[in-house]
Amino acid sequence: MAKVLCVLYDDPVDGYPTSYARDDLPVIEGYPGGQTLPTPEAVDFTPGHLLGSVSGGLGLRRFLEERGHTLVVTSDKDGEDSVFERELPDADVVISQPFWPAYLTAERIAKAPRLKLAITAGIGSDHVDLDAAIAGGLTVAEVTYSNSISVAEHEVMMILAMVRNYLPAHQWVLDGGWNIADCVARSYDVEGMHVGTVGAGRIGQAVLRRLKPFDMHLHYTARHRLPQRIEQELDLTFHPTPADMVPHCDVVTINAPLHPQTEGMFDDGLIGRMKRGTYLINCARAEICDRDAVVRALQRGRLAGYAGDVWFPQPPPADHPWRTMPHHGMTPHMSGSSLSAQARYAAGTREILEAWLDGAPIREEYLIVRGGALAGVGAQSYTTQHAPPGHTA
Ligand code: NDP
Repeated sequence: MAKVLCVLYDDPVDGYPTSYARDDLPVIEGYPGGQTLPTPEAVDFTPGHLLGSVSGGLGLRRFLEERGHTLVVTSDKDGEDSVFERELPDADVVISQPFWPAYLTAERIAKAPRLKLAITAGIGSDHVDLDAAIAGGLTVAEVTYSNSISVAEHEVMMILAMVRNYLPAHQWVLDGGWNIADCVARSYDVEGMHVGTVGAGRIGQAVLRRLKPFDMHLHYTARHRLPQRIEQELDLTFHPTPADMVPHCDVVTINAPLHPQTEGMFDDGLIGRMKRGTYLINCARAEICDRDAVVRALQRGRLAGYAGDVWFPQPPPADHPWRTMPHHGMTPHMSGSSLSAQARYAAGTREILEAWLDGAPIREEYLIVRGGALAGVGAQSYTTQHAPPGHTA
């Protein structure tokens, strides 16, 4: 029998919801490109309910306990006395989320001799030391596509909010004011602006597709060029590197995974190549940007705004400079955890568990690491010390 250790974010401060703003979720037939939504044998939760917090438990408890397995759910993830650290040594499976990551470091993996499977209930497995997972023979899987459109929508919202100066204008309303000039002195239209994405995979392309009807000029950079039919359909301009792309852009959005090639990419040098007054949107991973370079660029006006929902560490300390830097539109890491996304990543987590517990193969598109190497989407997205870029094991 397996012990499943699941780390989720805390319930709302007022307690687990007893009612919701809406009664149902729209039916999504499939993902762009043809990937199917999760296909577990069944689910024991109501789509649209809060599943990603501790009491929601990803809707897994009945399924696991009826089969005789043990499920431990906690939000207490950091430090040697944490529940996570105490429960880890005899866990077979760890489930964590990028929004509230249980950092599965090499030291922690070494303390967990039974650990065989690490599931990311969402997308982005950089909180797992992939080199250590490869060396330890772990399988790492995530629920690919479950929240890609959720993140893309959040980014489009942030781009519009930053360029149009929505948050400061809303603040004038809350404060009882009617200060039009203050609201509009930093407010522009996105129409005609040039927007570029670093990475044009599931999220990057979805952002571009959603911005096209705003009559923006669309740019991208990635290691591999998109098929010509997509470039033509969206009228995309390709740039071989971020350094080539950013001087052409009014808005830059980051949609690449965190791995050795992208860590620290947006430093003083790259930000210095951007047009004065560029908006930078990062819902990928915080460490792709140099924390203090972003603060300096906002203070000096090189960046007109920075928005995103990813931080390091998570949660960030109360004095993290991104909480107080000028002209930011940060949220906690929530873009990929809408109630809509939760229904999909909870179902996908169950699908992965069903397969693993039955000894059946996990979908190739969910795999990051398997059999001592990067695998599936992991082989396309990540680089490690064990596998050079683009290496498919
Ligand atoms: P995909 O794998 O579909 O796309 C990633 C893109 O990044 C690809 O176009 C890839 O192209 C590009 N890329 C990778 N390395 C580089 C590099 N060194 N330079 C330039 N481009 C690069 O991923 P998704 O779109 O699904 O997700 C992207 C990231 O978003 C995730 O890895 C995760 O970190 C983050 N995310 C955040 C969420 C949130 O809640 N905020 C939720 C979900 C994901 P190529 O290989 O050609 O370079």
